Amino acid sequence: MNTTIWNRILLASMVMFFGGCSISERTVAAANSTPPQLFTLEPTPERNVLQKTASGYLATLLGDPANAEVTLVKIDPARVSQQTQDLAVSLPDGKTAQFHLRDFTTLKSGIDSWVGYKPSAWKATHAASASEIDYDPFYYLSMVREGDKLVGNLIVEGQRYRLDSIGSGRYVLIKVDESKLPPDGEPLVAPAGVARDDTKVKSPQSAHSVIRLMFLATNQRKAANPWWWLDLLLAMSDANQYMKNSDVQITYQWAGNFFGDYDETGRSSSQQLGDIGKAQPFASQVLSMREELRADMVLMYTTEPSVCGRAYISTGKDSPHSIVTCPRSLAHELGHNIGALHKQGETGNVPEYAYGYETPLYNLHTQMVASRDALPNFSNPRVTYLGMPLGDSKFNDVARRFNERRETVENFYPPPNPLTVLVQLFSDYNQRGDMCTLKIEPGVDQPSCNKVKSIRVYDFAPGMKLCFRSEEYRRVCYAGSYAGDFAVPNLKAVSVLPSGLVREGGVGDDAFYGDVKYVEYAMDSLVTIKLYSLADFKGETCEFRLATGTVGSLSEWPQCAALSGGKSRSAKVFSFSSPYNKLCFFNADHRQSLCFNGNYQGNFSIRNWDVGTDLPSGLVRTHRGGGYMNGSVHRISYGNDTEGWPPAP
Ligand SMILES: [Zn+2]
Repeated sequence: MNTTIWNRILLASMVMFFGGCSISERTVAAANSTPPQLFTLEPTPERNVLQKTASGYLATLLGDPANAEVTLVKIDPARVSQQTQDLAVSLPDGKTAQFHLRDFTTLKSGIDSWVGYKPSAWKATHAASASEIDYDPFYYLSMVREGDKLVGNLIVEGQRYRLDSIGSGRYVLIKVDESKLPPDGEPLVAPAGVARDDTKVKSPQSAHSVIRLMFLATNQRKAANPWWWLDLLLAMSDANQYMKNSDVQITYQWAGNFFGDYDETGRSSSQQLGDIGKAQPFASQVLSMREELRADMVLMYTTEPSVCGRAYISTGKDSPHSIVTCPRSLAHELGHNIGALHKQGETGNVPEYAYGYETPLYNLHTQMVASRDALPNFSNPRVTYLGMPLGDSKFNDVARRFNERRETVENFYPPPNPLTVLVQLFSDYNQRGDMCTLKIEPGVDQPSCNKVKSIRVYDFAPGMKLCFRSEEYRRVCYAGSYAGDFAVPNLKAVSVLPSGLVREGGVGDDAFYGDVKYVEYAMDSLVTIKLYSLADFKGETCEFRLATGTVGSLSEWPQCAALSGGKSRSAKVFSFSSPYNKLCFFNADHRQSLCFNGNYQGNFSIRNWDVGTDLPSGLVRTHRGGGYMNGSVHRISYGNDTEGWPPAP
């Protein structure tokens, strides 16, 4: 979005503004409290000096003519948190802006996104209808963080900036000159021909659709940008905002990455797009990973310089493929796949209303017209900006087109079973030697390779137990509250595991002699309890596992020393199994109790011992003896749900 447009709109809205409205008290109050600064500017050498000394990713960034100004900044990546409600920015030219949290999303264990907006002053000062957007489209802040890596998009007064990591906990703020970026490429018809479009008059059956994306990168992109997937995740977060802004019931979800080899040398953008489905053996590897991840769409990040992106139009299951060079084109290219075109008059496999919207008034346009300088919207005549509908229902209703096709696309693959784990088994220690892969939904399976010394596990679910066992039932298991990926360098030894994951089983030949015959993945037979010193799962924590028929005091578990003496205030319970079991928490003299039983199996959370809401259906909570449980949980019992249980101390 460019600043000239912003200035024209600012002028127009100021004229309207002074025409009879007064500053609301809310605006004044907001201006008085100053939120923390997202970054501070660091002394930055002149660009030509920087260019001489820069190496690695910073050198790549400096080599891109669209990166008009590069300023070193200091950022605390921990700002990307649900706790951060407001952030301020101060730019090198002295301009400032503030953003309020709109969405915080954990994209995958360890990768979070934060999106902020500036409320629309126009809406606040006009008798605007409900259809009027409630954000200022000339201001925006979105960030994605993985560890100390952070990438961000920032728009202030219509001027676009990027935040990027350059390694070793260092960051840059880049002023982007979008005029130096290539245009979006024309969409193509997929080689398999036009998919039969049976969705033109279909109304969606479900309230919302989740469309899963798999990302890949060419060898050249991987070399240029070591954390390339963060760029795409940021663009995906932005695309999800455009959907929301446009009343489209689609959320894109990251299915995962494909890391295979693809050399883009000498391949045009159209050829690269075709290669995703045709170049062998690459295309077969991509397809098999896509099936494994159940990814509805596939997008490749390239360095091809002639276009910002290219995609097939209105595709079926065979070819929902696209490529991008500029990540900001992701929403636009995926929009072609789903079935929208640029401007009316263009012909393609789309109904006449599936075009983007542009208006000479303020020179505004929506995402499908062109991704450069676009409003954060798809055309939708039922949504207004400054009172103007963002489309004509006859020609510009991309929102309708997306809503009509979303179920077709989300059903290219069924959703994955949330409890599926992927296990890689290696014939040597430290994830070396021959490897085979096993994908297990809860149950038992036999690996195709059975001389197993080390493993790597993806998407372990908390409350589950993953066991490796020999024919004679010697076994090693992993369980607990941990969610995500982990690796074990030697299955027969005790190794350092991520917090919340516990190992169970023998060591050395007591684990097993040679072969691993079976891999089991099932709900843990023990219950895991994680306690927190503060309400809402904050503060200090400790956790322990209990077998049925156990009664114990917190002081007996050394890992819980900090929380004994009744100091806990909230808890998470993993792998609770009823209807046979009852889980109870007691005060010091056993007179007050809080028990959970009923018809429920699985995990649940107690965000405050004294609040009985937010429990899953079927679970029954019983508080006896009066008084507060907060700060007085000393003993815990887990056992058969009978009259005599638990025995009095
Ligand atoms: Zn396009």
